[in-house]
Amino acid sequence: MNELTMTISGRVAPSAAFYPVEDPATNAVLAEAPECSPEQMDEAMQAAAGAQRGWESDRKLRQSTLEQLASAVEGRLEDLAEVITSEEGKPLSEARSEVGDAVNDLRYFASLELADETVREDEHTVVRVVRRPIGPVAAITPWNFPLGTAVAKIAPALAAGCTVVLKPSPYTPLACLLFGEIGRGIVPPGVLNVLSGGNELGMLMTEHSVPRMVSFTGSVSTGKKIATAVAPDLKRLTLELGGNDPAIVLDDFDLEQTADGLFSNAFGNCGQICVAIKRVYVPRRRHDELVSALVARAEAAKVGDGHLAGTDIGPLCNKMQYERVDELVRDATNSGGEVVTGGHRVEGPGYFFEPTVVVGLTDGARLVDEEQFGPALPIVSYDDVDDAIERANASHFGLGASIWTTDPERGAGIARGVESGTVWVNTHQAGVPGQPFGGLKWSGIGVEGGRWGMIGFTELQAIHVARG
Ligand code: NAD
Repeated sequence: MNELTMTISGRVAPSAAFYPVEDPATNAVLAEAPECSPEQMDEAMQAAAGAQRGWESDRKLRQSTLEQLASAVEGRLEDLAEVITSEEGKPLSEARSEVGDAVNDLRYFASLELADETVREDEHTVVRVVRRPIGPVAAITPWNFPLGTAVAKIAPALAAGCTVVLKPSPYTPLACLLFGEIGRGIVPPGVLNVLSGGNELGMLMTEHSVPRMVSFTGSVSTGKKIATAVAPDLKRLTLELGGNDPAIVLDDFDLEQTADGLFSNAFGNCGQICVAIKRVYVPRRRHDELVSALVARAEAAKVGDGHLAGTDIGPLCNKMQYERVDELVRDATNSGGEVVTGGHRVEGPGYFFEPTVVVGLTDGARLVDEEQFGPALPIVSYDDVDDAIERANASHFGLGASIWTTDPERGAGIARGVESGTVWVNTHQAGVPGQPFGGLKWSGIGVEGGRWGMIGFTELQAIHVARG
């Protein structure tokens, strides 16, 4: 892992400076990652600009490249999963799924074509609307799904005919560096460039004159800074930002199925998922039975190194996140909440935190209102379902939400009143190929996934032909 290198113009980009990447399960230095210089970033941007015209004009090449890349990534699934678990912490089974999803994305977008639309065609006039690639894209991604969030951009961007310069999170650059290496010899030089470095590098990328678009996944606060940074150049922008997903449990819910669904979707990847369930609203009269069922699951979950067989929940990815979760749990107890299970850091090395369930809080408490992004779940009781939905909606966030009920049609009806980019009924986080994904309000601008995701990397062009 230590020798992983940046990819610029389809070649290794030797680095003069490095920074340490930490294993969150042991706190040991896992690797020294290349620190991209401003000159190298400029070189990558010029390479992307130089490759743009050829790439956008050859749809067959794009399709075959994406298919080959999918097969090559599939062939290195175990290596990539190992790197993801080492740098991010999630159990190997979850890391394998992340790589599998990336392979599926590459294959899905390889075969997707945005057909021209005809507005009019008669003996006098033909008017067609075509989708043009926006141009070189600066892609900037977070640490919770190091490969998944990157490929969710790269696959549709490349398929649409855009070239890409990618910068993953400084906490988790390794999987993307390996992905870039896998792509050498498959992706034409300059089409996919992979850098590594910190926030400053991201800033320089957003201000660079080459990219015509910034595709960003990360926190709301960084998203706002990027929106400001790209404004003077009117770069196009996609923002996939944070969430505070409510799960609204209706009075007729099935206890075991609902508890299983809530638990896995709140504590998967140690709660570090943009669409993790981050607060639960439950009818007061069924509050205690749901809490008991969740506590039983939290106490049965095995917390440990993601490499070890049997681990259900790995560590938090980094110190900053570890301290944030600890702080929010402390704040919850100081605000009248009761920790019914968990609540502590696990002794020893690594950023391990006990799966935590908190009751007795209501809206206004930080653990309910903010994005905790960790294994601490507040359960809030309600008396009236309309009131619960109003409280769930009273948030700047609007990423995901779910309704839990034995009457799916009733759930689907209620879903329409929920202010979020996706509303699930009796599940959460699920997706099928072709499903768009994005956030309302502060959770984002634009979408990823499906044809809408690919449309996001294009601009409309009307071609009006007078036939004489
Ligand atoms: P972050 O915003 O701190 O960092 C994300 C990336 O932005 C990193 O690569 C970072 O180096 C870069 N960056 C930081 N400052 C920058 C700047 N001023 N200009 C340009 N780039 C800059 O986010 P994070 O802590 O890595 O990720 C966690 C957040 O991401 C959570 O809020 C989570 O909900 C969100 N997220 C959202 C989605 C989604 O699809 N909506 C998916 C995954 C994660």
